[in-house]
Amino acid sequence: MCKLVCSNFLDKCHAECCGIIPLEKDFYNANIEKIVNKPHDIQEYHDIDPFDNIEKDFIIPVTENTKCCFLKDDYTCAIYEIRPQVCKIYGDESVPQLSCHWQDKNGNKRSRQAKRLLERKTKKNIERFLKQRKEI
Ligand code: SF4
Ligand code: SF4
Repeated sequence: MCKLVCSNFLDKCHAECCGIIPLEKDFYNANIEKIVNKPHDIQEYHDIDPFDNIEKDFIIPVTENTKCCFLKDDYTCAIYEIRPQVCKIYGDESVPQLSCHWQDKNGNKRSRQAKRLLERKTKKNIERFLKQRKEI
């Protein structure tokens, strides 16, 4: 279990973890009135949910600022209590893309070197994901 203390970092990280993420279509539609960062494009796809292995419809809400559509101006989440599973486990370091660049899973500030290493790994993983999506 991770013990992130995001309030200690928000003035610097600006919630960089809260980028554009795929959302279950049903979840998105059920919470559409809570959107604070309106998407200008909605991409849809059908895939297996890695959290429960069930096939579902997903959407990617593409926003101008490339932040999550539920991220408020003060960098807090408009749906924090019901945020998606991937957001709940973010920071547990089970895979590089779930590791916060700013703090480790115990809330300790990362060194500049550790932060840079993680940033490089995350960039590679995102590029790989986008390439796979284009090939589908
Ligand atoms: S998990 Fe990391 S990047 Fe995300 S809000 Fe917390 S400190 Fe910032
Ligand atoms: S749903 Fe909330 S916690 Fe998850 S990425 Fe969006 S703003 Fe961040």
